[in-house]
Amino acid sequence: MKHLARLAALTLALSTGAHAADQFDDKFRQLDELLPTPSTTRTASGAPGHAYWQQRADYKLRARLDEARRAITGAGTITYYNNSPDTLHYLWVQLDQNMFRPDSDNRNISTLPSREAWQKTGPEGVKFDALRANFDSRAFDGGIQVANVKASGGGALHYVVNKTMMRIDLPQPLKPGARFSFALEWRFNIPEANIVGRRTGYERFDKENKNDIFEVAQWFPRMAAYYDIAGWQNKQYLGDGEFTLEFGDYEVELTVPADHIVASTGELQNPNEVLSAAQRERLARARTAGKPVLIVTQAEAEANEKDRASGTKTWRYKAKNVRDFAFASSRKFIWDAQGIQSGANKVMAMSYYPKEGNPLWEKYSTQAVIHTIEQYSKYSFDYPYPTAISVNGPVGGMEYPMISFNGGRPTKDKKTGELTYSKATKYGLISVIIHEVGHNYYPMIVNSDERQWTWMDEGLNSFLQFLAEEAWEENYPSRRGEARDITDYMRSKNQTPIMTNSESVLQRGPNAYGKPATALNILRETVLGRELFDFAFKEYGRRWKFKRPTPADLFRTMEDASGTDLDWFWRGWFYTTDAVDVSVDGISEYTVSTQDPEIEKAWRKKLRDAEPMSLTEQRNKGTPRRVDAHPELKDFYNEHDDFTVTNADRNKFNESQEKLEDWEKALLSSGKHLYLVDFTNVGGLVTPLVLEIQLASGKKTIERIPAEVWRYSPKKITKLIVTDEPMTGLVQDPFWETADINVDNNAWPRKLTPSRLELFKTQRPQNDMMKDFNAPLKKPDAETKVSP
Ligand SMILES: [Zn+2]
Repeated sequence: MKHLARLAALTLALSTGAHAADQFDDKFRQLDELLPTPSTTRTASGAPGHAYWQQRADYKLRARLDEARRAITGAGTITYYNNSPDTLHYLWVQLDQNMFRPDSDNRNISTLPSREAWQKTGPEGVKFDALRANFDSRAFDGGIQVANVKASGGGALHYVVNKTMMRIDLPQPLKPGARFSFALEWRFNIPEANIVGRRTGYERFDKENKNDIFEVAQWFPRMAAYYDIAGWQNKQYLGDGEFTLEFGDYEVELTVPADHIVASTGELQNPNEVLSAAQRERLARARTAGKPVLIVTQAEAEANEKDRASGTKTWRYKAKNVRDFAFASSRKFIWDAQGIQSGANKVMAMSYYPKEGNPLWEKYSTQAVIHTIEQYSKYSFDYPYPTAISVNGPVGGMEYPMISFNGGRPTKDKKTGELTYSKATKYGLISVIIHEVGHNYYPMIVNSDERQWTWMDEGLNSFLQFLAEEAWEENYPSRRGEARDITDYMRSKNQTPIMTNSESVLQRGPNAYGKPATALNILRETVLGRELFDFAFKEYGRRWKFKRPTPADLFRTMEDASGTDLDWFWRGWFYTTDAVDVSVDGISEYTVSTQDPEIEKAWRKKLRDAEPMSLTEQRNKGTPRRVDAHPELKDFYNEHDDFTVTNADRNKFNESQEKLEDWEKALLSSGKHLYLVDFTNVGGLVTPLVLEIQLASGKKTIERIPAEVWRYSPKKITKLIVTDEPMTGLVQDPFWETADINVDNNAWPRKLTPSRLELFKTQRPQNDMMKDFNAPLKKPDAETKVSP
């Protein structure tokens, strides 16, 4: 973080003369003025400071799943530790289920993209399920009812519910270093995930049996985060901005129908009470197995879902140092597991899925969990928790500590029963498991504030997901990570910078997942190189695991650990919507003049002779001329043109040579080829230049030029390129590694872009009402083909 660039800008501004200078667009201006001032909690190097603190919350919870009513009733005690230097007079608690209230802000602030979009017909128009979700969310009796909020061993506490947040007023101020325990009860109806749910809910398989899969999250009152940069993070849960929470220890009792299998955050404490002897034996075997072992087989799960137990069982879990707790429960679950080692830690990788998920899930899920831990640990830290779980249910993809909910199933042919799946389903499944299990690292352990910055965990996680996918198989169809895959988005009009609050982001997927992931990949491959990048990124993970970093901590750590000023990179990629588009405008060739008249005059004559003959000269060729008819008119000037070398020329050259030093003579006869290349920065985002130089011999060389090449003139630069032999062509960004949004202007000489023109027959729709009127009416019970 140096201030040299600013000084340079000043010099340029002063040299432009008497009139007011245009504002200089300093792409390398330091970020200090935008980032929070370093403090004792967060240092200028991007590390936690000597006075870093964070709050802590421990939970003891009991929950009962009422399968018939599809509801949760809960009770518990929360102990809140005030590790801050501040005295607190109240606590804020998150009631996320209130997002599902019919009158929630999430419902009330929703808008349509446009009137035109609403009125579109066909696949782009309004869909059945969209309208059903709208109607059902108004009718669903959602939201959490909290009761009996009281201090442990004390009286009732005053509290106020503000939409998705609850403020509890403390009977006495909570001093720094003190703790406060309170108890409460609650209940809520679980939303149907496919209709009104978001990140949580139940899935209906069969209306009569109510054989559901429950994926239960955001299910208990959770302490809002309180930290040095934000104070209470009590921004309302509007739907997009997810969660940041405090770390703590959990003891949870989950009471579910006796024939359910539970998948949960934490370690099971009472396997003897809830698992059969066979299941316990298989689990023990799985710990050291070389491949996933079935704990509940498909045949057992199918038998299980035919009956209905009347009683309940209580599954008891403990989880240490986690920021949240989620679980899934169903009698449909097949369950497999395999133990793996992550550094010194033993981890059980496990999957839970219904028969509808096979054959995909038994083949890929647990393998993908293990692969994620192996790959993410390389770039971050060892996986610290005892379990890592992937559950197949109605939630398409969502992460919690140790457990993730993932969508994706094969398709069953309604007539033949044949199970098939598309390439997109297969790789979509592997990718979503990598992504959601990967979230254990970011943000479940590196606990960034997702209510404020979606990109801090989605972007970093999507980047590591890309690296893990690359390690799965060659030519893995990754959606995000490669520079060339972000260019459509970078060209698009309705963009916000990455540094935009989670709720205000436009085009959430490319903005908060794709663009930061690609930017980090460009930083790794093109700007820093793998060695410097990997060290610095790992240092970020090491510094901030089990702590709460902010964007400045990431930016500063990457600079501090790589030894590189990257402010231009963060500024361009994270604070603007500029795109990379560098145009190679023109090239002029220079060779050094030898000053020898014999060589130089011959060279100039050759150039002149290469000029095209004028049209008049062409047409006059062979015309009788006067001097040919009268040769006596010819003299010295008819024998010599401007390129004749005279003795005076030779004398002058010889005299000048005698005055030259040896090194000066050597320069004149070096034979080097010099090219001035003009580049325009059309897109505005400064980028390193990657130049592929093609030489007359056919040889190609690559020159990598740091982005600082743009520091004095961010819009247009001229660069000198020196070669030993003539250059025949030049390509900027030959490997498409900089996300240049227009490669048509990257080459000199320009290249043709081949395309196909597809021709179509003109077909006018016929409106034959008479024919329609006379069509026979089909009986409703007849087998009719319904138009899609
Ligand atoms: Zn994610």
